[in-house]
Amino acid sequence: MNAISQPFQIKHTGLEWDNHFHRLGPDFYTELAPQALPDPYWVGRAFGVADLLGLPAEQLQSGALLQALAGNQPISGTQPLASVYSGHQFGHWAGQLGDGRACLLGEANGLEVQLKGSGLTPYSRRGDGRAVLRSSIREFLCSEAMHALGIPTTRALCVVGSDEVVPRETLETAAVVTRVAPSFIRFGHFEHFAARNQLAQLKTLADYVITRYYPDCQTAETLGANPYANLLLRVCERTAEMLAHWQAVGFCHGVMNTDNMSILGLTIDYGPFQFLDAYDPGHICNHTDRGGRYAFARQPDIAHWNLYALAQALMPLIEDQALALQALDRFKPLFARTWRQRMRAKLGLAAGADGANTDADQALIDELLALLAQDRVDYSLFWRRLSQGVASQNFVPVRDLFLDRPAWDAWLLRYSERLADTDPGQAAGLMRKTNPKYVLRNYLGELAIEAAKSKDFSRVAQMLALLERPFDEHPEFESFAALPPDWASRIEISCSS
Ligand code: AMP
Ligand code: MG
Repeated sequence: MNAISQPFQIKHTGLEWDNHFHRLGPDFYTELAPQALPDPYWVGRAFGVADLLGLPAEQLQSGALLQALAGNQPISGTQPLASVYSGHQFGHWAGQLGDGRACLLGEANGLEVQLKGSGLTPYSRRGDGRAVLRSSIREFLCSEAMHALGIPTTRALCVVGSDEVVPRETLETAAVVTRVAPSFIRFGHFEHFAARNQLAQLKTLADYVITRYYPDCQTAETLGANPYANLLLRVCERTAEMLAHWQAVGFCHGVMNTDNMSILGLTIDYGPFQFLDAYDPGHICNHTDRGGRYAFARQPDIAHWNLYALAQALMPLIEDQALALQALDRFKPLFARTWRQRMRAKLGLAAGADGANTDADQALIDELLALLAQDRVDYSLFWRRLSQGVASQNFVPVRDLFLDRPAWDAWLLRYSERLADTDPGQAAGLMRKTNPKYVLRNYLGELAIEAAKSKDFSRVAQMLALLERPFDEHPEFESFAALPPDWASRIEISCSS
């Protein structure tokens, strides 16, 4: 191990640490220190996230912080802990889970800072508490990519790697991601206390979440002015909005277990996720998900199912089933409306009142998606080419993506009629900032991972820079916006790695 210099005092850099979650008391977590990781090195760093925390850029280049985020140095002012939660995995009650490989350091600038892959905790079950380099790079890049796409997500400050070997299907090496979010509380935290009939703790947790993150629930007059029913309602709304984003951009999460659902409606726990290449509503990105429970088109229904599990957990506080059902009923219409708005924006149709053209636009969208599915058209490439088509009024490159050209021509005619009263320049402008040119396709992640395995981290930095500005043209990276290579379809990604 490297010689450890002075105890690292992150406070001296101006960061003030706090930890509201810690004040909930020991029923909610176990205090512990991260496990040391030998000879760490930087794999990737997001300076924008350092900014959010108020962490000076030089800190993110310092050996002291590297050691601290690898778990080799305590950070003064932090109160590291692993939280306990339970959850439903693949539709079945799994009982107690918890942060099996994560450690919450505390809060800086109102944001929680968590290490993922930081070693054993009391909740590690049969796991080793580690995360591998491959999955850590994927989480790091995707968190920042999603943020740049305007999709609610946890963030990632950095990845540190080490040559420490961790056995998976093959031997891999360990890494730690430093994640950042206003809160890492999941539906599963509520399920945990409800399942054990620990109603005082359940109430403490709900009151904490309301006070800190949803203060309007205290005074809302909706749903019988019941703050817990209003909490459920707000979570339904945030989750519906998140799902609308996912479905519009073609993001498949892969493991939508209730312990991977954020109470703040953030995309959390990036595992076997995938941005669709060819459009296939039945696409299953998680190799372990044999039955396709988490297939792309099922995600909204699964989110709703998960919200029912949350509602069930909150019932001792809500006390009135009719109120809980009313809150849950908000999900489907809000998802449908938000999704339609996003799809309209992808088509260059400015958000008007949802009433106008709703049915006609819905039909236009449905027919288009049926065509994309039938011809397995590349999803991101289609939308970007359509944006260029509208800008240049040349749709040949879009037509080239289809096999059934007459069907495409017929759809394009109806679309052109719909666009007739819109200014093409305006439509194209909207489309260019709605339809990303660059998404983190699996194979792009693989390119960065393969280079990183041979200690070339420039690809990670390059990919991050690209994905931080996904709507811009980056002429030097034109090939990363093209159809994926053949080998991309052979990449297999499973649960926890
Ligand atoms: P995930 O599928 O990554 O959301 O993980 C589900 C549960 O398994 C959570 O409680 C994780 O903390 C735990 N877990 C996943 N991988 C590991 C690991 N390598 N060591 C310990 N716990 C793990
Ligand atoms: Mg998880």
